[in-house]
Amino acid sequence: MKILVLNCGSSSLKYQIINMENKEVMCKGLCERIGIEGSQLTHKVPGKEDFVQVEAMPDHKRAVEMVMAALTDAEHGVLKSVDEIDAIGHRVLHGGQKFTKSIIVNDEVKAAIRECFDLGPLHNPANLMGIEACEAAMPGKPNVAVFDTSFGMGMEPKAYTYAIPIEYLEKYSVRRYGFHGTSHDYVCHRAIEFAGLDPKNAKVIVCHLGNGASISASIGGVCVDTSMGLTPLEGLIMGTRSGDLDPAIVQYICNKEGKDVNEMLNILNKKSGVLGMSGGVSSDFRDIEKAAEEGNQKAATALEAFRYRVAKYIGAYAAAMNGVDCICFTAGVGENDKGTRKAICDQYLGYLGVKIDDARNDVRGKETLISADDSKVKVLLLPTNEELKIAMDTEALVK
Ligand code: ADP
Repeated sequence: MKILVLNCGSSSLKYQIINMENKEVMCKGLCERIGIEGSQLTHKVPGKEDFVQVEAMPDHKRAVEMVMAALTDAEHGVLKSVDEIDAIGHRVLHGGQKFTKSIIVNDEVKAAIRECFDLGPLHNPANLMGIEACEAAMPGKPNVAVFDTSFGMGMEPKAYTYAIPIEYLEKYSVRRYGFHGTSHDYVCHRAIEFAGLDPKNAKVIVCHLGNGASISASIGGVCVDTSMGLTPLEGLIMGTRSGDLDPAIVQYICNKEGKDVNEMLNILNKKSGVLGMSGGVSSDFRDIEKAAEEGNQKAATALEAFRYRVAKYIGAYAAAMNGVDCICFTAGVGENDKGTRKAICDQYLGYLGVKIDDARNDVRGKETLISADDSKVKVLLLPTNEELKIAMDTEALVK
């Protein structure tokens, strides 16, 4: 079975064709600046030169048409015809409280995605455009929606209910949803397989540390808690997002600087995190680490605070589950930065019996057990693969 995986943003569209026989990525690509001047498609086939096409893409429909043409292009394509695509798997940001798992798209599902525009104002409209563009370009092919929020639907009320008047949950569905769900779901299940853990009872903490960062606790693959909330702003310190903070800070700074709530939320989402803490050095963790090494104290504090926050959440989640069998590191920083993995484990997790093996930890982007044999908790590096998870869910539903 061949699955087209689509991830649509407001002005971009990322795609992959995955051959499910061998889980191989046949090609992948990106349409950029959709609806903006200077749009272009970059199509990558392993072992071939990138195929770049600069052409106006007024909307996602045109972008999907160009992707179809690239996929079947005589020189750069990987398919004889789009009929070879068995189904399309779409990443959808927000499924609200309705969707606890992935689902084949029909009119009702589209209406529900539309109902969640308020909750995912940047992504959900683009996700729906992608679905409708595929329906138009490939009539009759099944489309599957894979929600970033489904994994968080495993949480119990004590974990997802905010301590604010209950009417806001009842009237407006204000609760913890959690994001990066596809990644947490994939990695915690992969951890169970890779480390040979008990599939029903394994207590797993997944640290998804990228530019956006979040952490989850799960038992037997079911989410117990996760750090992002109603929006991706809550939880860990990120590249540009603040993560947790006293909500009264918003009003305090608004009053001091004559800003409104929208401006403050923009600052908390785009100008905070390690970028803001370092006084503007960078949102990229490599730059932060370099600056810290060169003696920039603000960058050093930002890096320490980032690691400290991850460790605090691991402690909290070990308590939430009354134990932890396995801690996984994934995403850009988690997969590539041995120093951060080691600092988190060595400085803060000794009391849990966590012991890193330095030689094993000297690795990047490869499934590896990085804890010592006598560590009480298994620590793993597991590269995430959201596209593969979307394709796996899609295959399971259309088979
Ligand atoms: P996102 O998908 O949220 O954009 P990624 O998972 O791609 O993020 O992670 C990107 C982050 O990973 C960047 O901040 C980058 O600096 C960081 N990163 C990549 N390689 C390294 C490394 N060797 N050391 C530290 N950070 C790294």
